[in-house]
Amino acid sequence: MISLLFFAGLALALVFLLRLIWRQNRALRELRAAAKRQQPFLHAESLDSFLPDWSGLVESVNQLIAENSTLQQQRSDQLTQLEATLGNLREAVLIVDEENYIHLANRALREIFPSSRDLVNLRLELIIRSVPFIEYVRATRAGQPLPRQEFEIVDGAHTIWIEASGAPIASPDGKSQWALFVIHNLTNERKLERVRRDFVANASHELRTPLSIIKGYIETLVDGHESMLLEDRTKFLKTIQRHSDRLKSIIDDLLVLSRLESATPGLKFTPLPLASFLQNLADDCRGRPEGVGREIVVSVPAELGPLEGDAEKLTQVFGNLLENALKYTPGDSRVELGAFATMANEIECYVRDNGPGIPPEDLSHIFERFFRVEKGRSRETGGTGLGLSIVKHIVQLHGGRVWAENREGGGLAIILRLPRTRKA
Ligand code: ADP
Repeated sequence: MISLLFFAGLALALVFLLRLIWRQNRALRELRAAAKRQQPFLHAESLDSFLPDWSGLVESVNQLIAENSTLQQQRSDQLTQLEATLGNLREAVLIVDEENYIHLANRALREIFPSSRDLVNLRLELIIRSVPFIEYVRATRAGQPLPRQEFEIVDGAHTIWIEASGAPIASPDGKSQWALFVIHNLTNERKLERVRRDFVANASHELRTPLSIIKGYIETLVDGHESMLLEDRTKFLKTIQRHSDRLKSIIDDLLVLSRLESATPGLKFTPLPLASFLQNLADDCRGRPEGVGREIVVSVPAELGPLEGDAEKLTQVFGNLLENALKYTPGDSRVELGAFATMANEIECYVRDNGPGIPPEDLSHIFERFFRVEKGRSRETGGTGLGLSIVKHIVQLHGGRVWAENREGGGLAIILRLPRTRKA
C-alpha cells in the first residue's frame, strides 16, 4: 500500500515536472519570437512562482526590445529628416552601406535615374550600372582620398553622364563604414557638346566638298587657261559657278539657323488669313520652273479664322516644304497644301505629296541638321540638308510642333500644328 502511494506520488511529481518543463519551453519559444519581432513579451501564464528569475528575465528582454525599437525609430526619423533636408537640394545625394545597399537617395538622384521609383533598400549595382563607379564607391568607403570623377552610365537605351565626389561615413550604429556621395547630372551638357561637335564636323564637311571642287578647277584654269579649249574653259567655269552657289546656299541656311537660334530671332506676328496666304504661295510655286505643269491643290475651309504668325518666316516654311514635295516627287506629282482647325485652339497645316515617302527608321531624323535620306540625290538637286531644320525652328518659335508621316498608298505628309494665337 505504501509503495503504491509512493509510486502514485512519484507519477504525480513527474507529470507536474514535465508540465513545468513544457510550459517553460513554450514560454522561452514565445520570448524568442517576441524578441525576433521586436515586440514586448506579454506572458499570460506566470512561471514566476517556479522560476524566481523569470519575471526579471522577461523584464530585461522587454527593456532591450523597447530600447532597440526606440533606436531604430530614431535612426529612421534621422534618415527621413535628412532626406527632407536634402530633398530640395539641386545636387543629388546618395548614401550606401557596407554591402552597397542604398540608405538615402534624395529627389535629385531619383530624377537622374527615373527608371526606378524608390531607390532606398535597392542594391546600388541595380541602379548605377557602371563598374568604374562601383569601384569608386568601394575605394571611397575604404577611405582612399579620391578626386571628383566623371562616369558614363548606360541605362537601357539612354546614356547618363554624372560627376561624383564622395566621403566615407560611419554607419548609424558605428559598427561599419558607409559612404556618402554628391552627384551632378552632366547629361544635358555632354549631349549638347556632342550635338555641337557633330554639327561642326558636319558643317565643315559640307563646306569642304564644294570648296575643294572650286579650288581644283581654279588651279586647272590658272595652269592651263591659255592652251585650253574655250568649250572646256566654259564647262569648268560653270562647274565653279554651280559649286559657289551651293556654298552660298549652305552659308545662307546656316546664317538663317543661327539667327533663329539667337536670343532675338526677330519674329513679327500678324493675323494671317490662311486661305489667301497658302493660295498665293501655291501660285508663286506654279510660276517657278520646278512647279510648271505640276498639280498643286490648296484646301482651306472658308470659315477658318486667321492664324497669328510671322508672314515672312511662314513663307519660308511652306516654300521649303513645297520645294521638297516637288523635288522628291518624280514627274506626275500631285501636291496638296491645306489647313483646318483642330479641337484645341490650334490649326493643323499640311503639305502632302505622292512621292516615295521616307523609310520609317529615318522619319524621326529628317528634321536634324544635314540629315538626308539619299545624300547624292539631295546634293544633285541643290539641297543643303538644312531646310527641314529651319522649318522645325520656325514652327517651334510659333509655339507649334512639326512631324512627318508616310501616307497610305505612298507619299509623304509634313504636318504642322500651330497655336491659333501667339502664346504669351
Ligand atoms: P534637303 O536640302 O536635302 O532637301 P531638307 O532638310 O529639306 O534637306 O530635307 C532632309 C531630307 O529629307 C532630304 O534630303 C530628303 O532625303 C528627305 N525629304 C524631305 N522632304 C521629302 C519629301 N517630300 N519626300 C521624300 N523625302 C523627303
